[in-house]
Amino acid sequence: MTAAVLDLLALPDLDGLTDLQRRGATCVWNSGHGALTTTTAVDLGEYPAGDGTVCFLRACKACGQRFALEALQIHSGSCEPCVIDHRQCPPGLALVRMIRDARR
Ligand SMILES: [Zn+2]
Ligand SMILES: [Zn+2]
Repeated sequence: MTAAVLDLLALPDLDGLTDLQRRGATCVWNSGHGALTTTTAVDLGEYPAGDGTVCFLRACKACGQRFALEALQIHSGSCEPCVIDHRQCPPGLALVRMIRDARR
């Protein structure tokens, strides 16, 4: 997941995250969604926080799918390559993959 894709996702303010969220132990959108494992998490990758540290963000599948769908709808509405063929658009393709991964 690249920074360009993460910018499309409606990520919460990183400064407000708990330590568990910052290292991907719980859902980045809601720390109350339970402890994540490699099978229950959607990997969002590394993201630099405002304080210079790097966060390893993960989401639960429910949030991953919901926010990726929202981001894709907003993105593809203003992205011509996506309308023609989303495989030609790296951020569009990354979001489509994220939605697919979250369905597993
Ligand atoms: Zn969640
Ligand atoms: Zn696109």
